[in-house]
Amino acid sequence: MHFYRPLTALKALTFDLDDTLYDNRPVIQRTEQESLAYLQNKHPELREITSSELHLVRAELREQEPEIYHDVTEWRRCSLVLLLQRQGYSLQQAQQGADDAMDDFAHWRSKVEVPQETHQTLQALAERFPLVAITNGNADPHVFGLGHYFQFILRSGPDGRSKPFSDMYDNASRLLGLSPESILHVGDDLTTDVAGALRSGFQACWINDRDRSLMAVSDSRLLPHIEISRLASLQSLL
Ligand SMILES: [Mg+2]
Repeated sequence: MHFYRPLTALKALTFDLDDTLYDNRPVIQRTEQESLAYLQNKHPELREITSSELHLVRAELREQEPEIYHDVTEWRRCSLVLLLQRQGYSLQQAQQGADDAMDDFAHWRSKVEVPQETHQTLQALAERFPLVAITNGNADPHVFGLGHYFQFILRSGPDGRSKPFSDMYDNASRLLGLSPESILHVGDDLTTDVAGALRSGFQACWINDRDRSLMAVSDSRLLPHIEISRLASLQSLL
C-alpha cells in the first residue's frame, strides 16, 4: 500500500465494480461474442454482421445523441432498435427484438466470477462502514452475490451522468448523509474513479492490479490518497 496524501477519518466507502471487485475483461469479451452470435442466429438478415458494424451503429447513435453514453444499457438497446429498423422491422418489432437481445446480453453480462478475497474484504468492511457501489457499467451485483454488501448501488444513466462527472459522487454523499471528504472511493480507473472522486471532494484509493506505475501512465491526472495492488489491503483500514 502506498500513501500519497494523508487519509483523514473515514465514515464510508464507495466502490467501482468492474475491474475493481472482479476481473471484468473476460466477462466483456465473452458477452460481446455471445451477443453477436445471438443476433446472427436470431435474425437471418444479420447472419453476416460483424462486431465492428455494431460499433459503427453505436457511434452513429452517439453522434445523434451525444449524452447517451452516460447510460450504457440504453445506448446498447437503442443501437439495436436502430439496427433492426434498418433491416426492415417496424419500430415495435425492432423494440421487441432489442428487448430480447438485451435479456440475452444481461444473462452473459452477469456471469461474473467473484474472488473469495472480494467477499472477505467487503464482508469485513461492511461490518464497520456503510458501503456503496458506483458504476458506469451495467453489471448487476445482486445477480452474482455482491449486492447485499452495499447500502445502495448507483448507476450512470438512471442516477446521473457517468463518472468522472460528480453526479453520482454527490448523490452518494447526500444519500449517506456524510460529507464527501469522509468517504473513500475505491476504483481501478485513474480518470473516472480517482480524478472523479477527488474533484467531488472524496478521498480516493487506486487499485492497481496490473502493476502499472502511477508516474508513468498517461491517464494519471491527480494523485490518489492511497494505491493498493490487492483489495484485501483495505482491511488494514479497519
Ligand atoms: Mg472499473
